[in-house]
Amino acid sequence: MIIVMKPTADKGELDHVVEKVEEVGCKTILLEGTNRKVIAVIGDKRDIPPEYWDSIPGVEKAVPILTPYKIASREAKKADTEIKINDQVLGGKKIGVIAGPCAVEDQDQINYIAERVKKAGAIALRGGAFKPRTSPYSFQGLGEKGLEYLAKAREATGLAIVTEILSPEHIELVSSYVDVLQVGTRNMANFLLLQAVGECKKPVILKRGMSATLDEFLLAGEYILSHGNPNVILCERGIRTFETHTRFTLSLSIVPELKRLTHLPIIVDPSHGTGVRDLVCPMSKGAVAVGADGLILEVHQDPEKSYVDGPQSITPEDFENLMNETGAVARAVGRDI
Ligand code: PEP
Ligand code: MN
Repeated sequence: MIIVMKPTADKGELDHVVEKVEEVGCKTILLEGTNRKVIAVIGDKRDIPPEYWDSIPGVEKAVPILTPYKIASREAKKADTEIKINDQVLGGKKIGVIAGPCAVEDQDQINYIAERVKKAGAIALRGGAFKPRTSPYSFQGLGEKGLEYLAKAREATGLAIVTEILSPEHIELVSSYVDVLQVGTRNMANFLLLQAVGECKKPVILKRGMSATLDEFLLAGEYILSHGNPNVILCERGIRTFETHTRFTLSLSIVPELKRLTHLPIIVDPSHGTGVRDLVCPMSKGAVAVGADGLILEVHQDPEKSYVDGPQSITPEDFENLMNETGAVARAVGRDI
């Protein structure tokens, strides 16, 4: 950290700041500029927020050098993190595609979609059993029955199961049925939930909050990591902007930026990110081109009849085409799918 003193700071204020820094166990180096002094702080004190230093008399600004996410950062671990999802790996050379309906509707529906997406190359099946809905009158998911259907679909296809977790109270129940827990956009800043999935050892897909900055997103991931779970997969799923031609604005530029800042795998959700079926394939190709490690996609055998998110759901046939087209992009950037 660098502490920049105000041009008006006197010797007493400077000595006081040095004293405060030494009090927390760090060393200081004083750099004297022509009209102000700067203190270089040696030592890792990221647990003290920069605002603490800003409020000391004579200080203009404390500038952190180290990223606030200690475990998630590339500074902490250079090599990409690969996460095992049953017999598959996410974060390696192969692009991992997770596909399935927005919500589990019945056993036949989930089995049928599972078989189709598996045949086309998906590594895991998604499906919501507990749905976070904007309206309390909308379909809320089948709950435990939905989890049972998902587990049966795994038996039938061998696909790993991904489902959303809404509350810390559901951890035991949900993790007894599924392989990967998903924290949705509306819960990215639910710190008790992040801690709870951090204490669980199942891989977690953490979706970006729809109004979260990159730093807030990575710090949410840090919550999970710092509670003992190293298996965190970040997911860009679109953010709220003024634009209305899509449901959200899929922020693909965050992918290479996250790749630079963190070793964690990053997947992209073009279904929620656009809300528009016809945009799902082009944005999947774009995501892979910019370095995503995987995709999560909504697939429904009859999108018009889908209980939830029909307009953004693609058919199993569309999914096969998407896998072929995205595969060509993957090979062009040195990956497989
Ligand atoms: C979902 O994947 O079904 C979902 C609700 O996603 P998000 O949290 O990104 O809206
Ligand atoms: Mn959905």
